[in-house]
Amino acid sequence: MPYDTQPPASHFINGRYVEDSAGDLIEVVYPATGAVIARIHAATPAIIEEAITSARAAQAAWAALSGTERGRILRRASEIMRERNHDLSVLETFDTGKPYQETSVVDATSGADALEYYGGMAATLTGEHIPLAGGDWAYTKREALGLCVGIGAWNYPTQIACWKGAPALACGNAMIFKPSETTPLCALKVAEILHEAGLPAGLYNVVQGMGAVGAALVTDPRVDKVSLTGSVPTGRKVYAAAADGMKHVTMELGGKSPLLVFEDADIDAAVSGAILGNFYSTGQVCSNGTRVFVQNAVIEPFLARLAERLKGAVIGDPQDPATNIGPMASARQLEIVEGYVAKGLEEGARLVAGGTRIAGEGFWFPPTVFADVTDDMTIAREEIFGPVMSVLGFDTEDEALRRANDTPFGLAAGVFTRDLARAHRVVDAFEAGTCYINSYNDAPVEMPFGGVKMSGVGRENARAAIEHYSQLKSVYVRMGQPEAPF
Ligand code: NAD
Repeated sequence: MPYDTQPPASHFINGRYVEDSAGDLIEVVYPATGAVIARIHAATPAIIEEAITSARAAQAAWAALSGTERGRILRRASEIMRERNHDLSVLETFDTGKPYQETSVVDATSGADALEYYGGMAATLTGEHIPLAGGDWAYTKREALGLCVGIGAWNYPTQIACWKGAPALACGNAMIFKPSETTPLCALKVAEILHEAGLPAGLYNVVQGMGAVGAALVTDPRVDKVSLTGSVPTGRKVYAAAADGMKHVTMELGGKSPLLVFEDADIDAAVSGAILGNFYSTGQVCSNGTRVFVQNAVIEPFLARLAERLKGAVIGDPQDPATNIGPMASARQLEIVEGYVAKGLEEGARLVAGGTRIAGEGFWFPPTVFADVTDDMTIAREEIFGPVMSVLGFDTEDEALRRANDTPFGLAAGVFTRDLARAHRVVDAFEAGTCYINSYNDAPVEMPFGGVKMSGVGRENARAAIEHYSQLKSVYVRMGQPEAPF
């Protein structure tokens, strides 16, 4: 392989690569071929200890720098990331299987956006002056939380490492990041780049491992905050463990988001939205609009146009820039998707595209579309996390909204219509944290991102994330004598 995917060591702690081969072996597999492309080890207790002590030792001096100084380092890191975009994108494609056509414009780029955005914001994180009766006054200071732990999912390893790391560091925290065991390679590059940009050692440590390593970090009393991107079952466990120590949390969890297409919509645009919301990253996107509700009057033209557009799917070598559909991230995820497709058929949904795994090496599944899906079917209720779109018919706006909201999840929701008033009315009624009008799945760093209901707690990106990586100290200042009762 011309590209070296084996990192120098498993972990990046205190400014350098560190190994402890006593940790469980993790084989990193290229999803396109099933070949092992790197071998690393899960963190042992000694590695976790080193990560925590070095992070805590470095944090106070980092918080004592001016925001301008901290921001400069983050912005420098963003520039390095952009300069290395090609190599980072190739690595992201090896790590996840996502096509280079995507990774070259989304992954390191959105990571760099986060570093640039929070680098620019670091100097603006001020408190308030609050005038009070009798000339007294109060002020607030925005302080760092201390040591933050980030735990990542496997679909956007670089982006997740930066979406958590950039606001944490901007606020003066240290971060320990544990990537998903499925995609452990990219976060190491983020750590390398941050330190090359001048980040003092210890402030962004990467430790590898399965859930047990995440759990050890979450339960350590020296950790002040946990930000998880993962599934709802993991979120429940991590939130509960964090609650025990009264730690701050951000939970970016799963979804089963609705996409509503009204009869007055631009059908081609709506089909684009449905493709972006179901097949990008081979469907492995948390905010995907996997329940596509189409008004009955336009359901057949919608399906016909979708079938036409599916002919443009190019499934093949993910490193080839012409490819736009890559494999599933793992054999396990492929099996999960196959299981859901079987359930869909068994429960009476009409398969109109895809549906069978692609034979050969690697973990391939084609874009799959079910029509005649009803609300009670398993494929309409549970998160599949693969390229499986469910199309459901509806007649009225009220009906569509009631059904769209009838889910324990609330991550995202979208609407396609030319009627402006309807668009905003529908968005007001959506029980979702992130909504789209005549678009789907955009996630610019300037816009808060996150879910309601079982899909999560807190927000990433934008100024909103600052609230989740800092805390306020309020100071009352009396200008005269305090009055005591005796
Ligand atoms: P997962 O829940 O299996 O794992 C997520 C991370 O948690 C991994 O790093 C894992 O090692 C770790 N983990 C597992 N058990 C743990 C424990 N007890 N304590 C601490 N850490 C633990 O999720 P996944 O399969 O990697 O990712 C897919 C899921 O993530 C989907 O549900 C998807 O919707 C969700 N997701 C959400 C977002 C978002 O921003 N809302 C983004 C991407 C993915």
